[in-house]
Amino acid sequence: MRKIIILLLTFSLSACAKFIEPKISLDENDSRETAIPVILPAVEKNLIGTANDEDFFGFSLIHADTIILNLAVPETKDYSLFLLDDNDTLALSRNGLGKTEIIKQFLPAGNYYALVIGENQTFSESQNYRLTIYLLDSLSANPHLLLGNPSDAKNSPDNYLLEKQQFTLSYNNRRHIANWVSWHLNEGWVGTVARQTGFHTENLPAGWYEVKDADYTGSGFDRGHICPSGDRTATATDNYATFVLSNIIPQAPDNNQGPWAEFEGYCRELAAQNYEVFIIAGSYDSIRTIGTGKVVVPGRLWKIVVLENIISVSGVNANTRIIAIDMPNENGLRNESWKKYRTSVDQIESATGFDFLSRVSIELQTILESKIDKD
Ligand code: MN
Ligand code: MN
Repeated sequence: MRKIIILLLTFSLSACAKFIEPKISLDENDSRETAIPVILPAVEKNLIGTANDEDFFGFSLIHADTIILNLAVPETKDYSLFLLDDNDTLALSRNGLGKTEIIKQFLPAGNYYALVIGENQTFSESQNYRLTIYLLDSLSANPHLLLGNPSDAKNSPDNYLLEKQQFTLSYNNRRHIANWVSWHLNEGWVGTVARQTGFHTENLPAGWYEVKDADYTGSGFDRGHICPSGDRTATATDNYATFVLSNIIPQAPDNNQGPWAEFEGYCRELAAQNYEVFIIAGSYDSIRTIGTGKVVVPGRLWKIVVLENIISVSGVNANTRIIAIDMPNENGLRNESWKKYRTSVDQIESATGFDFLSRVSIELQTILESKIDKD
């Protein structure tokens, strides 16, 4: 509403002795001066955007940091998202596909504003949106590894870290499948994009076997997503990224299409309830191999889900809900509920040798990892 501000200025600068009150009511936060103050990390939910509306959110950095502004819009409305300081626009992102994000590294200490504008040509009515502002601390520059890197994956062939915008994984070049895949899910990741089916090879170091789509053909096993296609539907790029073969495991059809799929749907329901959902999933043991590259068919599949209200390790407390499941990769369980396979994080840690929630304090890990979800 810059025009209104200029109008106001014109009125007050005029020689009139009497101040003329403009006949337009302003939202309380639609200027920098009256910006909604937020304390980081902040999740501002159920905000209302209307055509040409400008909403300001003010925050301060007490030391240099990486800031992330994440704007989630449930429908395909066109929003612009700005990061501003007192003088200028530092970054701009524009989007009509449900989600937009600004990541600004090494932002110096100071006062800043997030500005959300509903673009008028796509609006006929008000629209809810959600703005999340958070800092990436120096230990994790990757929201998908917020709770830790459970196998300390780096560059060894059986524990090779692959960081992507959509998820992060540890690849195993002996098993030719991932050890684990880790991803953040909230409603901002979920949109209306159709499945961008197109299984494609992973970009691996020279000389490593690249698993191919054909390795699965005729094997009797599904090409099972670890990070589900359904969790990445905000953009076509996000969705296509889930079809990389390092995110795929040979999965028994009854498992993939039965309780595993049901649990994936439940996680998206939780995201739709405004949770910040941190998911990590993988496999252990082996039944046999398939394909020319000897892709291991894992014996067991596990998943750990942590529910938070904010995107921060500091959001985890003794009451944080954690759901862990561990199930056999076999047929015959299609009609079972995922609830039957609930277990503790401790059990999956001892089966895999990984350390989950490693960025959470030891005291909290002890409390949370021994629990079995009952909700
Ligand atoms: Mn699946
Ligand atoms: Mn642990």
